[in-house]
Amino acid sequence: MAETIKINLPEGQVEVVPKGTTPLALLQKLNSRLSEQAVVAKTNGDVIDLDAPLERDTDLRFLTTDDPEGLFVFRHSSAHLLAAAVLELFPEVKLGIGPPTEQGFFYEFQREQAFTPEDLEKIEKKMAELRDADLPNRRRWLPRAEAMKLYRDQQQLFKCELVEEKSQGDQVSFYTTGEFIDFCLGPHIPSTGRIRAFKLLNVSGAYWKGVEGNPQLQRIYGTAFPSQAQLDDFLHKLEEAKRRDHRRLGPELGLFSVEEEAGPGLVFWHPKGGIVRHLMENWLRDELLRRGYQLVYTPHAMRIDLWKTSGHLDYYRENMFPAMEGEHVAYQLKPMNCPGHILIYKAGLRSYRELPLRLAELGTVYRYERGGVIHGLLRVRGFTQDDAHIFCTPDQIEAEIAACVDFAFAVLKTFGFEGYEVELSVRDPAHPQNYAGKIEDWDRAEAALAGTLERLKIPFKRMLGEAVFYGPKIDVKLIDAIGRPWQLTTVQFDFNLPERFNLHYIGPDGAQHRPVMVHRALLGSVERFFGILIEHYAGAFPVWLAPIQVAVLPVSEKAADYARQVYERLRAGGFRVELDSRNEKLQAKIRDAQLQKIPFMLVCGKKEAEAGTVSVRSRSKGDLGPRPLADFEAELAGLVASRAPHE
Ligand SMILES: [Zn+2]
Ligand SMILES: [Zn+2]
Repeated sequence: MAETIKINLPEGQVEVVPKGTTPLALLQKLNSRLSEQAVVAKTNGDVIDLDAPLERDTDLRFLTTDDPEGLFVFRHSSAHLLAAAVLELFPEVKLGIGPPTEQGFFYEFQREQAFTPEDLEKIEKKMAELRDADLPNRRRWLPRAEAMKLYRDQQQLFKCELVEEKSQGDQVSFYTTGEFIDFCLGPHIPSTGRIRAFKLLNVSGAYWKGVEGNPQLQRIYGTAFPSQAQLDDFLHKLEEAKRRDHRRLGPELGLFSVEEEAGPGLVFWHPKGGIVRHLMENWLRDELLRRGYQLVYTPHAMRIDLWKTSGHLDYYRENMFPAMEGEHVAYQLKPMNCPGHILIYKAGLRSYRELPLRLAELGTVYRYERGGVIHGLLRVRGFTQDDAHIFCTPDQIEAEIAACVDFAFAVLKTFGFEGYEVELSVRDPAHPQNYAGKIEDWDRAEAALAGTLERLKIPFKRMLGEAVFYGPKIDVKLIDAIGRPWQLTTVQFDFNLPERFNLHYIGPDGAQHRPVMVHRALLGSVERFFGILIEHYAGAFPVWLAPIQVAVLPVSEKAADYARQVYERLRAGGFRVELDSRNEKLQAKIRDAQLQKIPFMLVCGKKEAEAGTVSVRSRSKGDLGPRPLADFEAELAGLVASRAPHE
């Protein structure tokens, strides 16, 4: 009798099958609805091919493209399909790597000529042919020497390098898709026929292994989905994201720029961005004062010893600008505001009566982000955090956390965001050596954070092992107009810095006690938040934030005086107005105001001048007809006062 093995399937089902049975055979035996959908199987924590023989008793689960791991494999196989097509069309190319990515996949090729959009079309056609041929993806093992010879004969030298570095043991794993063969650890979907919907998106240059100075390769990026509807949806979102890209809108709308002459990741706020920042910061400062914070300002450069005490030189050095040599001592540009606020706390003897002490600063910090990760306003080298540090007693923690969370929600509401996600990052008790502070403190802080969220009925995800080494934290992500999450608010406990800086307060018992410290930033950074706002509104800011709220458009020279009066009156009323007195056709003026996303255009002609009215056009609703200027003014004032997200 053949040897049998026991397979534990989900929901308690157990199957006894001959040793060497493949997941695919098992699927057929079970006659499961998954037969059509499964792309790979997962056993004992490993994702494996559906035709990999099972050799021992094990658990087994079938993955479809609905599982992130299944989708990942599906896209990895799509990358192989791409390489197979490219090799058929351009047999001279040299292959680099071809992994799946967050949103799709890419494959690297070395080729003298650049791939053109027409090339991509041809490649897509060839991919479709190979897909329709439903070629199986088969695993094959080759002895190491044979593997090297195979690639040497084909002059695939990058692949030789990969085999040398990455293969383990004497046998080297390959996958074949029709004629195409690739050094690859897999796993893969059973055959190309499943790749129903795919699209090549773009080509970009990359150094081999990402190392500058290495040969230049071309990366062809694409994405793939199990259905056309899913692909269409993805492509639509991609278009929307492009339309909203703050890196394009920033210069187009005169909001900000990054100047190569000054350096990467350093932001210049132009007048129209400057006014939005002024409004954001004013709202924030007023709220801080109203909520019992005190505003402070701290220096941008401080002695390097301070950063030794804080631990930044040990734990954070790679993110810091190099130190500046002074006459006798070195100074450090600040990457964080915490040590500055701590020095203010330490400047006097603190009593429990002063706690909680909430020190807030719109503090500009500098971090040496690597060139490759700098991105518009989202990852920069100089930025202003809306930072605060709360020094409190352990029994004040809960109330402070609740207040921070409430403040965070006020930010979301004020700036017009509805959706959010909350994450609670806690320590991994299996690795106590990774965390500073006493276990009791951690238990208490984690319970306080979770308890507060539960009491406020805020749903949250618990992120095990995601806490920073000095304490647990709450993160709030906002969801923008097209469903993308953005990390925003963070509220972090800290048991470490009060210890390092030896902070005290005098308790009611007259003795010295250690305060607890909370770091919190609501917007995160003003720059980043501005970038998110631009994308959320696609540059069409709500009336209260719009750099220009009204464009006054005289129809002709004859209406110029009246238009100027309208302009002056709105200006005097405290509104941000622009008078377009250029010698242009009205249509051109409307088009330009529309492109600048100005909420209202007031058309002033002879008729309006005689009646004392304005013809109102809205950027979103078009022509709204004439009305008395006073009525329009009142309506505008209402929109500003209520901070309405849409007019
Ligand atoms: Zn591969
Ligand atoms: Zn801090």
